[in-house]
Amino acid sequence: MRIITELARILIICLFASLSRECIAADGPRQRSILVLEEADFRSPFYSEIFAGIRAAAKQNGRSHTVIYGESLDLARFPGPHYEESLVGHLKTKYAQRPIDVIVSIGVTSAKFLQTRKQEIWPAAPVVYGFVPDLPETRALFLPDTTAVFARVKPTHLLTAARAIVPDLTRVVLVGDAWKNPLVYGHWKQDFAAAMPGLEVIDLSDAVLREVRKQVATLPARSAILTSAMYSDGEGTYYSPASALARVAESANRPIIITSDTFLGQSGVGGFLLLPDIIGREAGEVAMRILDGEAPSSITPTGGDNVKPIFDWRQLKHWNVDEANLPQGSEVRFREQSFWEQYRWQLMTLASVVLVQALLITILLRERRLRSLAEVEARQRMSELAHMNRRATAGEMSASIAHELSQPLAAILINAESAQLVLQNPTPDLGELRNILDHIRCDDQRAAQVIDRLRSFLKRHPTERRELDLNATVGEVFRFLSVQALTHDVGLATEPSSADIRVKGDKVQLQQAILNLVVNGMDAVAHLPDGRRRVVGRTGFADGNQALVSIADAGDGILAENVTEIFEPFFTTKTQGMGIGLSIARTIIEAHGGRIWAENAPSGGAVFHISLPLVSPR
Ligand code: ADP
Repeated sequence: MRIITELARILIICLFASLSRECIAADGPRQRSILVLEEADFRSPFYSEIFAGIRAAAKQNGRSHTVIYGESLDLARFPGPHYEESLVGHLKTKYAQRPIDVIVSIGVTSAKFLQTRKQEIWPAAPVVYGFVPDLPETRALFLPDTTAVFARVKPTHLLTAARAIVPDLTRVVLVGDAWKNPLVYGHWKQDFAAAMPGLEVIDLSDAVLREVRKQVATLPARSAILTSAMYSDGEGTYYSPASALARVAESANRPIIITSDTFLGQSGVGGFLLLPDIIGREAGEVAMRILDGEAPSSITPTGGDNVKPIFDWRQLKHWNVDEANLPQGSEVRFREQSFWEQYRWQLMTLASVVLVQALLITILLRERRLRSLAEVEARQRMSELAHMNRRATAGEMSASIAHELSQPLAAILINAESAQLVLQNPTPDLGELRNILDHIRCDDQRAAQVIDRLRSFLKRHPTERRELDLNATVGEVFRFLSVQALTHDVGLATEPSSADIRVKGDKVQLQQAILNLVVNGMDAVAHLPDGRRRVVGRTGFADGNQALVSIADAGDGILAENVTEIFEPFFTTKTQGMGIGLSIARTIIEAHGGRIWAENAPSGGAVFHISLPLVSPR
């Protein structure tokens, strides 16, 4: 029965726990409490960061709810026994019904206050001292049942930072009233003398702010300003340390060494800086250990990891400081990013785009090169094919060539025989002999011309473009074929334009293209009766900038469906045909920037047209 009652009790507690955490405090075991006793104003950046650090440490240790109270003693700004007395009375009343499980005392002033007044207000609470330097004088303040996490910027730290910024340092200027507090900076004079004998020290820790500003404005080179927090100046005016420092910095002509990271970025160049957030966390963690049951006396006071060399990059640049000279492990803040750091992604994207583009261009250039190589090869093939085509044409024409040669040869023979007869005369007629010899020479020249023409037609030579007259070129082709036409009884006629037709091209190639058309025309009329076997070549102009050559015959014409096909390689309707004549003609004409096409004339027969760009448009 007792067990059932106990179970019911636990169930009810759990139900309450899920309903409200507040209920735990009221009905469950008493919540744990920490009192943070800060020596200065909570609202100053430094002390508020310490408080935030303590709160973070308590939150991290979430085993049970911990309430954190905070009090600012503010004894530096409100000195005197009356205030202290009333403060004690106030705190006694305030915490009469609020038991404190652990006090976190921040700063030397707090430690001093607790030394004399704790017994009256919180007699049983253990204490964790935070933000106190590890000096015999401060340890002497510690009460029994306490522990500590030390935090301190040593005077030599300031000197080390100053020497990093001003390597040839000979003089330091002390600014800030904390220099006067032996519980904070201890015996800086001895420390400086030991670290740097001969160092000149100008102590302005007692001077009024106005005087400090005046003095720091005209400091000689090789000096640095070492600041501690300034809460009040020699006249008893109170400042927030950050604003006091900012005013000093306004007029200072030498670099300022500072002691807290809450000052960095506002005035100082940097130095070994107190990290208030860490100071709070470290003290808070020790407080939580005590709340979790450890005896304060069993936790040895230790130095924290709460001071770090940190510098302002902009100030380093201003004072021309080489970062290599900074103390080991220094952190540099407010570094302006280089163009590369700032736009790294954009630059990398741009670089990739450029790279891809370059790659594409390379591929395209390669393609172009391959294509032009292929074109060169194709042209070479065409040239070889054209050469074969010419040889075949010449072979077909061998009979007519022989016939053409036989005429001057026969004439030479007759003339030679006539000369012999003249010479049989005892008084040969020299005038007639001269005449005969002239004829022989002329006939020989005619024969030589036939051979020359044939040779140049058959010669394999590279393409060479020259300005030429199309009338002359067409005329030569017709003359070349005249004997063959005679043999086949085909009438060849040309109707040249009245004006010269100047085009730029390879004469032999153009002649070949035209010759293929004329030969086809002769083939087309071969079966026709006498009088209709006729091929006509005309030249003229079209569109103002084109030369036009038309070869017309009176044959059967071209089947409509073959009008374009006939230009394809190996298309032939002839039993002995090769089907390359027109495809070669088209290749040649297109290589000259021209066009070739065929149509049927209304009067019957086929007409092949060639257009070529004129050298100078009309
Ligand atoms: P081939 O003469 O060896 O056949 P071509 O390429 O010169 O090769 O001509 C191809 C074809 O075009 C011819 O077989 C013929 O059918 C047609 N052709 C060419 N010229 C004429 C023309 N003047 N009249 C009618 N058809 C023609």
